[in-house]
Amino acid sequence: MNTPLQIKCPTCKQTVEWSEQSKFKPFCSARCKLIDLGEWATETHKIPGEEVFLDHDDKILK
Ligand SMILES: [Zn+2]
Repeated sequence: MNTPLQIKCPTCKQTVEWSEQSKFKPFCSARCKLIDLGEWATETHKIPGEEVFLDHDDKILK
């Protein structure tokens, strides 16, 4: 159980040790975590536009 698991930071692809101490896992640092969350928020922002489209489709079906 002493072999540390090595993962890759999803943001910068740097090798990170997966351990109890790594509070930003799977990211290497708080910065990479924030960058990823920022990208996630951008993705979420696109959803309202798609919902309008789906609502329009639903009206056609009725
Ligand atoms: Zn990173």
